[in-house]
This record gives sequence, structure tokens and C-alpha cells, in this order.
Amino acid sequence: MPTRVWDYLPEYAAERDDIMDAVETVFRSGRLVLGESVRRFEEEFAARHGVRHCVGVDNGTNAVKLGLQALGVGPGDEVVTVSNTAAPTVVAIDAVGATPVFVDVDPATYLMDVAAVEAAVTPRTRCLLPVHLYGQCVDMAPLERLAQERGLAILEDCAQAHGALHHGRPAGSMGRAAAFSFYPTKVLGAYGDGGATITSDDEVEANLRRLRYYGMERTYYVVETPGHNARLDEVQAEILRRKLTRLDRYVEDRRAVAARYAEGLAGTGLVLPATAAGNTHVYYVYVVRHPRRDEIIEALQAYDIHLNISYPWPVHTMSGFAHLGYGRGSLPVTEELAGQIFSLPMYPSLPRGVQDKVIDALREVLRH
Ligand SMILES: *Cc1c(COP(=O)(O)O)cnc(C)c1O
Repeated sequence: MPTRVWDYLPEYAAERDDIMDAVETVFRSGRLVLGESVRRFEEEFAARHGVRHCVGVDNGTNAVKLGLQALGVGPGDEVVTVSNTAAPTVVAIDAVGATPVFVDVDPATYLMDVAAVEAAVTPRTRCLLPVHLYGQCVDMAPLERLAQERGLAILEDCAQAHGALHHGRPAGSMGRAAAFSFYPTKVLGAYGDGGATITSDDEVEANLRRLRYYGMERTYYVVETPGHNARLDEVQAEILRRKLTRLDRYVEDRRAVAARYAEGLAGTGLVLPATAAGNTHVYYVYVVRHPRRDEIIEALQAYDIHLNISYPWPVHTMSGFAHLGYGRGSLPVTEELAGQIFSLPMYPSLPRGVQDKVIDALREVLRH
């Protein structure tokens, strides 16, 4: 059996009865779109984060996009974020007609260099968009201070940080709004696409509900500002409700895998993930760094271990974003990292034998 960075089948085998019961529950309910399962999931997901509202949407990209629109971000506005992220963060900014402004990342955590944000703020800046990448939170205090001083909104991209804590606060509870993805690989993953935007702001919530439902007030069925169809699917919502009750266990299992990697790979020359002070890391991906990255990935193929890179091409170097005008060398830490980072297999049900196989293979390859 080849070893891949992610696989849901062992988890499905263990949870099949519950997942199938979730599907059956919705099919028997008589309500297939925006029914009780979405309503209850929204309630439970908001409660879990200590915020007042959750609006379920169809994927994480739209969670960011509708989040931005609900905050009033649109054409002519600038949004400060990072280039070391999943491209959808930036695709969503582009989709609302706003301009992404990139800052570099911290060389230890690979997260937004918050000290660089103030210099990136202009009179057109409307929103700060920190990405809690790989499973741990961006240092929020400096961003909160800056947002307060300059009247900016903060939208957290939590697509990789379900269950992560920052000085005891849940990821997603710190900005004016926060976007989540439930893409299957995520720490809380559906059996298909899903997403949610959470907020404690009543006006932002009302905007989100309209935006995901054509732009309609559901009670009046009248469109004032055209929106989208971006509803969370009822079946996925019921599956997510079931899985939300197990989120803490998934996180614990991921942290146990990370601890085993850290122990097994100490002293090999691999740079292991660093956790910033005050963070509880949930290890959406386990990112390591080595100057001979490409050789190592290639060598592991011989052991039938297939690794991944999150992310090999910084967004600002992609042809689709060339018009933003960030040349090579404009974000040096991000660019250097992209050539050296790679991700080890990581998911809660990753068998111990496979963890050991990965550790042994890496130790062997790195000996030479
Ligand atoms: C996965 C991801 C998204 C997009 O989520 P989808 O559900 O795939 O649309 C956005 N931002 C980050 C950081 C992600 O990892």
C-alpha cells in the first residue's frame, strides 16, 4: 500500500455507521436544503467558538468571499494578507474585486509577519486577513491593535485551524468574522465540500445570510443587492454535526502523530514545525524544511511514500496574479521557504506503523 499524506478511509471504516445514519437522517427528514441539520450545525459551531452566529456555506473559498462582502469589502479596497497560503484565500479577495496586498512571513512559524503589516496599510486598506496556516494562529494582538487604531476589519482564514487555540481563545473567535472550510482533508472535514463564516456581529450575519441565498431576504423573497447561491448542503451539515462532537479527539490524535514525528526525527537535520508562544497547534499539515527538499521527496518514492508540498508556488509568483506586480524577490522569506518545505503524512487515523515507516525512511535518507 502506498503511503500518502492524507487518507480518510480508515476513519470512514471506524465511523461508517454514524456517517450513514447522518445521511439517512437527512434523507428521511423531508427537508433537503437549509433544513434542521444546517440550522443545528450553525448553532453548535457558533457555540463551540463562543460567537453569536454561524452561516453555513458551500465551501471555504466562498466562506472567505462572502465574509469579505459581508464586511463591506469590494472593488477599490485593499486586503492585507500573505502569499504563503492556499491560493483560494487570494482567489476570494480577487473575486470580490478587492486588491490583495501581501506581507512576508515569519521565518520560524511561516505565518504572517505581523510586524510588517502596519507598513502595508494604506488609506485604501479595508481589511486584514490573517491565515492561521498549517494549524496554528497568527499573533493576533498586534493586528487587533492596528485594526482598532485604523478602523479596519479583521477576517480570519481558519480553513486550516479548526480547534486551534491562541492564548486560550479559539481560532475564529478573534476577528470581526472568520471563514472555515470543511473540505475533506481539513481538521473538521465533510464528505464533500462545505464551509462556514462565523461572527458575533448581527449586521455581518444578516449580510451573510442574504449573500448565500441569492441576495434575498428569505421572508420577503426580494433581491435588493444580488448575491450568490452558496448554501451549505444539508447532508454535509448533518455529517459535520456528528464529526464536530469528535473534533477534540481528532486534534488530540493529530497532536500525538506530531509528537511522534518530533521525537523520531530529532537530530536528522530536518527543521521541524515551531509552535509560537500561546498557541495550541492542531497540525492540519506537518510541515518540515530542508534545503535538499526535492531530493528527499524523490528518495522517499522508493519507499512508496508520497509526500506533498504546502505550497510549492507562492501565490504572488503565479501567473494569474502577475498583474499585482510582485516580482521575484519581493517576499524573500516566502520564496525561500517554498523551495524547502514539504509535508509528512498527517491525519488522525494515521496508523502507527505508517508513522514509523515514514520516520525510518526519512532517517535512512537523511543519513546520506
Ligand atoms: C482549503 C483552504 C481554503 C479554501 O477552502 P475550500 O473549501 O477548498 O474552498 C481557503 N483558505 C485556506 C487557507 C485553505 O487551506
